[in-house]
Amino acid sequence: MTETSELAGAVAIVTGGSRGIGLGIAQELARAGAGIAVVARDGERAAAAAAELGGDGHAAYPCDIADARACTKTVRAVESGQGPVAILVNNAGITRDNIVLRLKDDDWSRVIDTNLGGAFNMIRAVTRGMMKRRAGSIVNVTSVIGLMGNAGQANYAASKAGLHGLTKSVARELASRNIRCNAVAPGFIRTDMTAGLPESQVEELKGRIPAGRLGEPGDVAGVVRFLAGPGAGYITGQIIAVDGGMTMQ
Ligand code: NAP
Repeated sequence: MTETSELAGAVAIVTGGSRGIGLGIAQELARAGAGIAVVARDGERAAAAAAELGGDGHAAYPCDIADARACTKTVRAVESGQGPVAILVNNAGITRDNIVLRLKDDDWSRVIDTNLGGAFNMIRAVTRGMMKRRAGSIVNVTSVIGLMGNAGQANYAASKAGLHGLTKSVARELASRNIRCNAVAPGFIRTDMTAGLPESQVEELKGRIPAGRLGEPGDVAGVVRFLAGPGAGYITGQIIAVDGGMTMQ
């Protein structure tokens, strides 16, 4: 089978592209022909990921997305180094789990500032250029937890539910400028984030997933590739669960 390159020449920022789901997305968008800007706090790991993508069309940018100024600087650096940003994938995210009574102020604010604030910072930073060019696709990686809630994850669930509202608002605001904004809500995916789950919990989870398995980064990446590209040109403001059927109604 021949590989299509529907994103040839497009520049795509992938936050959290250095590992896990983000790395899977970076690899998939690179296979579709995009030049990838890998954004993460750990610059060495981001550089290693960008190098792994092969060719010279990819680069790494150390940046904490919770820092609005750093996001503006990063987008400027991407645009001057690689070209206009056509695709933004807001994938970077963290957890700091605890029951509400034990959540510290910092657990709350760090998760909200990274998962929700970080996506907002990046969207604001790319919007002017996308509006001028009247073209752009934004994909936010959220979570089924943002749809269902989860005991012990109030901060995380609130950040991801907030991202759903942000996705729909940005989609409404920018649709007339030919800028689309969608969300992909993964279920349980095998990455560093879920590596700590005890095997008994994994078995219990599998019982709740019609597909009978946890997802892999590639399961999410294929959907992001579709939403980022021309095949999804008439799709905006949607939240697509990639969860093996776990949240189907
Ligand atoms: P992961 O393996 O822990 O990777 C997180 C990535 O985000 C890393 O590249 C990390 O790099 C980056 N990152 C974290 N904080 C950052 C910050 N402040 N600024 C810039 N980059 C930052 O996580 P994952 O499992 O791949 O998850 C990726 C996304 O999918 C997250 O938004 C997560 O909420 C969502 N998700 C995951 C699952 C799952 O089961 N794994 C399920 C639903 C949704 P540095 O540490 O170097 O910054």
